[in-house]
Amino acid sequence: MTTAKETTKSLVEKDRENVWHHISAYNEKNPPMVWESAEGAWITDHQGNRYLDGMSGLWSVNVGYGRKELAQAAFEQLKKLPYVPMTQSHEPAIELAEKLNELLGEEYKIFYSNSGSDANEVAFKLARQYHQQNGEPSRYKFISRYRAYHGSSMGALAATGQALRKYKYEPLAPGFLHVAPPDNYRRPAGQSVEEYNIQRAQEFEEKIIWEQKETIAGIIMEPVITGGGILIPHPIYLEKVQEICNRHDVLLIVDEVICGFGRTGKAFGHQHFKVKPDIITMAKGLTSSYLPLSVTAIRKDIYEKFDTGEENSHFRHVNTFGGNPAACAVALKNLEIMERENLFERSVELGERLLNELAELKDHPFVGDIRGLGFLLGIELVEDKETREPASNARVAKIIGECKANGLIIGRNGDTVAGYNNILALSPPLSCTDEDFDFIVAVIKKVFKENE
Ligand code: PMP
Repeated sequence: MTTAKETTKSLVEKDRENVWHHISAYNEKNPPMVWESAEGAWITDHQGNRYLDGMSGLWSVNVGYGRKELAQAAFEQLKKLPYVPMTQSHEPAIELAEKLNELLGEEYKIFYSNSGSDANEVAFKLARQYHQQNGEPSRYKFISRYRAYHGSSMGALAATGQALRKYKYEPLAPGFLHVAPPDNYRRPAGQSVEEYNIQRAQEFEEKIIWEQKETIAGIIMEPVITGGGILIPHPIYLEKVQEICNRHDVLLIVDEVICGFGRTGKAFGHQHFKVKPDIITMAKGLTSSYLPLSVTAIRKDIYEKFDTGEENSHFRHVNTFGGNPAACAVALKNLEIMERENLFERSVELGERLLNELAELKDHPFVGDIRGLGFLLGIELVEDKETREPASNARVAKIIGECKANGLIIGRNGDTVAGYNNILALSPPLSCTDEDFDFIVAVIKKVFKENE
């Protein structure tokens, strides 16, 4: 009989032989965690160690693990009708589109794909074709922000503003430009947050003008930059961006892949701001990542340009798995759980409590800034509070390692090229219990105390 330990060892060895992991550089001394099971906010590895998943997987398991209702929804649908190509339709896809429109409060057409990257690719293709069919075929460029992450495929990666993820794979899709995001903590001394945000928003307009506005198809942005270091804009920023889009007939594409489904405390992150996106992309929290599913929502007045009956006016894009019936059934049940358990409100409540509880860290010698919106938190670590020099790799890694040793998994984000990979991220399941919440706070306080 093998012991649990031996089983784990052989799994780790087999993993090392055969599995190529996403992004992470593992080696013999630093093997990946082999997850065995999960319940609520907690994951258990193969050796029986339990961790509170402060990142909800990849910012995505919003309703937490172990939801039997979701497994049941998938099971029932797989038995009844496991597959329909989305050239046709089926009941869960229809119901889900209706439900999403209800949450959006606007009339959108819902286009299904599999991942956040897919959803963004669809947005770019749609925007280009829209302009062609709207009599402005020269509009093909997109403006994004440095530090933003929009996905791994050639277009979505081109939109991404993190050079280290990109430079070995270039040339990527052409036609993607970038401007600087608002990083309020690092704004010039003496400038108000509002002034600074207006100035940052104006960079879009300058880019549009310098590039010739007739070449610009769209602007893509997350409401809050997440992977780039939890950069929360002043509301004036998005308001100004919306005005600029309107002024120059540029489409506003909002990437809600992380910010959607309660993460920031509302159904969608952009609902905090005075904007009406033309295109909205979603994934992750849509199914709480129990099954792959993503959506590109397109305003109906844009869709009309594709519905003219003219030859070749339709959107010539297909993917085999998008809108899978079981994934749509899971998404519907997932949204039902979020509503029943008031998880958007819970996100607001837990986020506010977390900011309050951790406010004392502002005096910690290596904490430069703490910021959050909903149950999404960033702690920016610095070497020196005066100069704001980003914390060293070793310091950030030590804190993350000690959180893990105490049973809490947290993330690390920012901009690796500029040396700002110094932001700790917390994005726990919105379903965290009060005990889970207390555990998160206790571990963070303990680890920071030990690192004073
Ligand atoms: N947009 C954002 C904001 C993301 O964070 C991600 C993934 N982390 C993506 C798009 C891409 O999603 P996926 O990994 O599902 O392709």
